[in-house]
Amino acid sequence: MKKVLSILFAIIILCMGVIPSYAANPKISVKTVSSASVGDTITVSVNLSANSNLGGIEFIVKYDTSAFQYVSGSAKTGNVFSEAIINSDVVGQLHYGGYTTTTVNSSGTFMSFKLKVLKVNGKITVSVRDAFNGEEKDITSLVSVSGATVKCSHANMKWTITKKATCTEKGEKKGTCACGYTTTEIIAKLEHTYGKWTVEKEATETEKGLKWAKCTVCGDKKEQVINKLKPTETTTETTTETTTFVENTTESTTNEPTTAPTPQIVEKTSTAEIVAKTVAVVLGVEALGLVIFLICKKKKGNK
Ligand SMILES: [Zn+2]
Ligand SMILES: [Zn+2]
Repeated sequence: MKKVLSILFAIIILCMGVIPSYAANPKISVKTVSSASVGDTITVSVNLSANSNLGGIEFIVKYDTSAFQYVSGSAKTGNVFSEAIINSDVVGQLHYGGYTTTTVNSSGTFMSFKLKVLKVNGKITVSVRDAFNGEEKDITSLVSVSGATVKCSHANMKWTITKKATCTEKGEKKGTCACGYTTTEIIAKLEHTYGKWTVEKEATETEKGLKWAKCTVCGDKKEQVINKLKPTETTTETTTETTTFVENTTESTTNEPTTAPTPQIVEKTSTAEIVAKTVAVVLGVEALGLVIFLICKKKKGNK
């Protein structure tokens, strides 16, 4: 068991020592937009992969002169090599040369340039002239390269309707690009053109109503529920109901003799009133007689 553990430990230490000095073969790749339209100016960069252990390199980037026109470009120094130049004197190619006194292990950009697109599907390629690693060993044959193709973005498609869309069926249109690319697309169904609503059932305060409308083109029918009426909004209906309510009460009073106690109470109250009134009148008359008596007495006294 101890032996197994010590072997594993030895392997781990060995791996830890190996990883930092691990060097992969350098990869040079062209990066740019995958698609563009004629007239666009695109930016292209040429990049190096990580852990390349590269000491110096010379390569040529070629672009299709019928598809691209060179605008401007520059070598990037600092992130890959301390010294680098590009030469664009020859139309259709950019000549790059760069080196460092140590080795390059981080990924980075060799150069960046701009091209105007004259034609789509143009190619940009890379070919290595010479490359050496940190130990100044020739590794030209070990460097792998990948170019780029700028396809058409089909930004200015011309469309023709091959089948018109209706409210019942989808349509179809055909697109053609200047590059020769063609495609077909489905046109969504049109909206129905509904006519006026027809009320099938009027809404009341207690029940919902229903209305429908038909498409004037295809006859498609749609239905919609009408909400119950709000009592406050319909004043005319409530007044008619109150009138019927009054009628009901009058009917009930005439039909049912049980409502008789109410007039009886009225009678009781009226007799009480009469009694009160007579008492008041009697008292008033008595008071008046007393006043007259007092006045007459005073007048006699005065004489
Ligand atoms: Zn196109
Ligand atoms: Zn329709």
